[in-house]
Amino acid sequence: MKSRLRRFQELSAGQEDIFRQLSSDIWSRPELGLQEHYACQRQVELLREFGFEVESPFAGLDTAFRARWGSGGPVFAFASEYDALPKIDHGCGHNLIATAALLAARLTQQILQESGLPGQVFVLGTPGEESMGGKVLMLREDCLAGVDAVMMVHPNWRSCRDTGSTAINRVNVEYFGKAAHAAGSPEQGINALDAVIMLFNSVSFWRQQLPESSRIHGIIEHGGVRPNIIPDYASCYFFLRSPENEVLEQMNLRFADMIEAAAKMSGCSYKSSPGAQPYKARKPNLPMNEHYAAAMQALGMKLTETKSGRGSSDFGDFSQLRPGIHPYFSISDSEIPGHSEQFCAAANSELGFKNMLAAALSMADVAYTYLTEPQFRQEVQADFEK
Ligand SMILES: [Zn+2]
Ligand SMILES: [Zn+2]
Repeated sequence: MKSRLRRFQELSAGQEDIFRQLSSDIWSRPELGLQEHYACQRQVELLREFGFEVESPFAGLDTAFRARWGSGGPVFAFASEYDALPKIDHGCGHNLIATAALLAARLTQQILQESGLPGQVFVLGTPGEESMGGKVLMLREDCLAGVDAVMMVHPNWRSCRDTGSTAINRVNVEYFGKAAHAAGSPEQGINALDAVIMLFNSVSFWRQQLPESSRIHGIIEHGGVRPNIIPDYASCYFFLRSPENEVLEQMNLRFADMIEAAAKMSGCSYKSSPGAQPYKARKPNLPMNEHYAAAMQALGMKLTETKSGRGSSDFGDFSQLRPGIHPYFSISDSEIPGHSEQFCAAANSELGFKNMLAAALSMADVAYTYLTEPQFRQEVQADFEK
């Protein structure tokens, strides 16, 4: 591994400016999910220059792409993300995700060319990660067809293995009652806010009986207009999460009962609807995770041991269908929150770029090992099927 990483370092040093420019170009022109036309085009052009065959639009999305290079052997895919957030631009650092994916693909291509071994490298441009579930939408068009294993890296304040993420379901709940004067003729009203409050109370009692790893959190979006009007409309928005897809399915059924029960108790009618794309739990592949960690450490990166992840990402759906990992690399010397202005600044810092290089080299090493060592491939597959 050491000598291969040294070769990756040489190859990467010779073209560092191309990737530095790519990262800062995407960072300087933040685009919201599914509108990332500039970032998509920029990557498509670069991949074509590298000799990849690129399709875009891809899998039903205008700002998605699939780039392919190589022949014979297994297929390893790198997932790229490039959407920004409202107000805080690249506060999730997806410019570095895209750059790492393209650099890793380029290095894997170059080392395969040098070795003359068979194997194929794909880059999947997956837009709209932030709440829109671009990968889930792309899976409807079978975007992983032909792919054997898939990987991406995400910036964080620290470097660590993929610790998994939770499956998520997002639910909008609306209650419909009847307005009346709250003091003059309350007996004629049906209070929709009561239903919302009863739902929150049901959830609070339920929480004690949920597995420690489950999460349910909500907000009241509409709770009435004035205290002297019995609210005829009230609504709330809930996220339900679990690291186990089956547990989340059970939670969804129970939550649906609670929504209905609150409607009955208050005399309201109700409507519940999905708030955003549900995501599956992320299932990190152990041999790929350990290989990434070993490569990062060999490159002098310090890895932190962390508890299992409680956030959610659309890579979860990819990891349920193919062996895959979504580990992290540090872009800061101290703890900074994700989705913040500090995180946005760190995503365009020299430290962020340098550490991204280590992550991209480590990804390329995972890919090359997967493509060229049948033993490693078997271990990856066995862990996936477990
Ligand atoms: Zn994010
Ligand atoms: Zn992100």
